[in-house]
Parts: sequence; structure tokens; C-alpha cells
Amino acid sequence: MMNIIEAASLKKLNTFGMDVKADYLSEVNTSEDIEQVLEFREKKNIPLFILGGGSNILFSREIHELVLLNRLKGIELIEENQKHVWVQANAGENWHEFVLFCLKNNWGGVENLSLIPGNVGASPMQNIGAYGVEIKDVFHSLEAINLKDGKAKEFSAEECRFGYRESVFKQEEKGKWLITKVNFKLTKVDHILKTGYGAITTELEAMHVKTANIQAISEAVIRIRRSKLPNPEEIGNAGSFFKNPVVDISIMQQIKRQHPDVVSYPAGENQVKLAAGWLIEKAGWKGYRKGDAGVHKNQALVLVNYGQANGNEISDLADSLIEDIQKKFGVMLEKEVNIY
Ligand code: FAD
Ligand code: NAP
Repeated sequence: MMNIIEAASLKKLNTFGMDVKADYLSEVNTSEDIEQVLEFREKKNIPLFILGGGSNILFSREIHELVLLNRLKGIELIEENQKHVWVQANAGENWHEFVLFCLKNNWGGVENLSLIPGNVGASPMQNIGAYGVEIKDVFHSLEAINLKDGKAKEFSAEECRFGYRESVFKQEEKGKWLITKVNFKLTKVDHILKTGYGAITTELEAMHVKTANIQAISEAVIRIRRSKLPNPEEIGNAGSFFKNPVVDISIMQQIKRQHPDVVSYPAGENQVKLAAGWLIEKAGWKGYRKGDAGVHKNQALVLVNYGQANGNEISDLADSLIEDIQKKFGVMLEKEVNIY
């Protein structure tokens, strides 16, 4: 039976630890719960706000909406052939637990995405990515409910229009759908191992792994992430606050004249991807702190809440960084985190 809490605190439901209240909060565990929430919304005439693990959100205001906390659970093997499995995960499954489930079954494709916080349902939102893999690489389709009329629709990969930390759900379809299930196509045999990104190879060597497999890659990624990234349980954050900017190669060459150590990666014809963390660090912001809002001391791409910062303070800090990076390097940083 659906339960609705009034004036609910969201502090423990977002990894930045922002202490804001929602007018209404309802945890949904079944499709009947969803129907009831939609009815309640209709009756009260209030907008809905979908919340997963709260790990890609910065709340900078009270939420005068009905927050639907997605906790729909379940993972199912839908189909298989000799080489592949088609697996369906309900949106409220924890992403990393889904990855571990796949590894236990020796299904390949998501190992590089180990330890990303949040839920399966949010994974298509920004086409989550890490260590050279994005969910679009293993995505088959998703099911979503239209928040206006309650009708279900299936989205193909093409319809999701995945891009770099982007999808249609962050653009023109923003706020219009509740993603309920995601379908993945994973390998059963002949896994495609991606070890060439970041420190994976070095970490596999440190682990004395002679022949890599998907489980070892996952373990390496987990070890790297644990050593590099601030744990939101200890210090509030939402991972990378900005996207890595993709710019014209001439801009990178201009920066290189002053900074021969500029970090860039090829990104299509005449384009390169710059490491936003490098730009922020070079501009002198790494470890900066004003009140309880700061730039993490080891990871300049991560903005942190040392305890009592509010969303506007973090957002103002982000805007100061954007302005300064634009002034110093002629590059416009774009926020990755969803700000409300
Ligand atoms: P939430 O923060 O709850 O929601 C994010 C957005 O999606 C909101 O707009 C929300 O309304 C919407 N939403 C959520 N669920 C649904 C749904 N079922 N239907 C419709 N809309 C929905 N991201 C990466 O891509 N790669 C990384 O390597 C990575 N590392 C991270 C490391 C740390 C320490 C942290 C804190 C974050 C990291 N992130 C990373 C960001 C974040 O984990 C992902 O974006 C994740 O997918 C967010 O999931 P969530 O359930 O917490 O979403
Ligand atoms: P890193 O390994 O120190 O590398 C710095 C940046 O360089 C990364 O942002 C990555 O871009 C890019 N990069 C590294 N090797 C690359 C290669 N071979 N080809 C193309 N680009 C390359 O990065 P990190 O901060 O420790 O993060 C490791 C991975 O986890 C990255 O993929 C990162 O995106 C992901 N991550 C994401 C979040 C988030 O919140 N979005 C948080 C933590 C980590 P990309 O970011 O484009 O991959």
C-alpha cells in the first residue's frame, strides 16, 4: 500500500546531503503504487519529481512537488542465445548491485561501470559512462510511463538519442517520463575487455592479474574508484560536477602554447576532449573552500559539501569556476549535475 509523507526531509536521499524538504514524498515498490501516486498527483494537482539514488542532483530549493522515490526491484533474464543474454532490470535496482549480479552470472559489458552510484532507472538519463564504456554500448531498450497520461511506452536506443552524458531525457523529454525498466544486451562468451582506459592496466598489474577477465576489470575499477573518489557517505558530492568539454582543436593548441602539459583526447574530426579536472586544477581551484562549499582536494572535477553548504552556495561556486575557466582558457564548462 502506497504511503505518502508530507513535508519530508530529502537530506538522506541525495548524496550532496542537501537539507531540503519535499511537500510530499512517496516510495513506490510496485506498479500499483505508481498508479496510486499518479491518482494522488491528479487529485492534488501537483507536479511529480522522480528521485532515484539522488547521486546526480543538487537541490537548491525546497521541492514543492510530489517526490516519487523509485524502488521498483527485480532483475530478469528475458532471452539468450549462444553468445548473448537480454536482461531486464527494474528501475529501482541499485546500479552497482546490478553490475555485481551480471558478473556473478559471467555476463559481460558493464564491468567498467562498476561502483557508479545510483539506480538502474537513472542510468539512461545521462548515458552513464566510465573507463571508456557508456550504457549505450550495452543498452537494448527501456520502458517508461508518461507522467501526463500514465501510459507506458518502449524507447529504443535510437529514440533515447544517447550522447556524451546526454539523452533525450535530459533534453526535450526532461521531466516527462518515469523510467520503469531497462533492457540490456550483454555477452555470455567472448567478452570484449576494455582495459586501455585510465589506470586499469596499471591496477591489473598491481593486482598480479596475468589474464584479465570481466571480474578482474571490475575489481580494478572498484579499487581505482575507492582510492580516487570522495565517498559521499563521508563528504557530500555528486561525482563530476562538469562534463569534459569537447572543443575545436585550435583551442587546445592555443592552450598548449602556454601549458604544454594540457590533457586532451581525440573526439572526432578537428575536435578534442579536454579534461575539465585539469583545467580547474590549472586555474588554481583544486582544494578551494568557501564556507562549507568546496572543490575537492584530490579531484578538482568534484564539488563538495563539507557539511552545512546549501545548494545555492555550491551552485555559485560552480558559476565562479565556469566564469574563471572561460576567462583563462576560453573554454565554457557545462554542468553535468542536475540542479533543481
Ligand atoms: P538521481 O540523482 O536520483 O536522478 C538523476 C536525474 O534522473 C534526475 O533528474 C531525476 O529526476 C532523474 N531520474 C532518476 N531516476 C529516474 C527514473 N527512473 N525515471 C525518470 N527519471 C529519473 N556518473 C557517470 O556517468 N559516471 C561515473 O563514473 C559516475 N561516478 C560517480 C561517482 C560519485 C561518487 C557520484 C556521487 C556520482 C557519480 N556519477 C557518475 C553520477 C551518478 O552516479 C549517475 O548519474 C547516476 O546514474 C545517477 O543515478 P541516481 O539514481 O542517483 O539518479
Ligand atoms: P582519469 O582516469 O583521471 O582521466 C581524466 C579524464 O580523462 C577523464 O575524465 C576521462 O574522460 C579522460 N580520459 C582518461 N583516459 C582516457 C582515454 N584513454 N580516452 C579518452 N579519455 C580519457 O579520470 P577519473 O576522474 O579518475 O575518472 C575515471 C572514469 O570514471 C572516467 O571515465 C570518468 O568519466 C568516470 N567518472 C565519472 C564521474 C561522474 O560523476 N560523471 C565521477 C567519477 C568518475 P571521460 O570522463 O570522458 O571518461
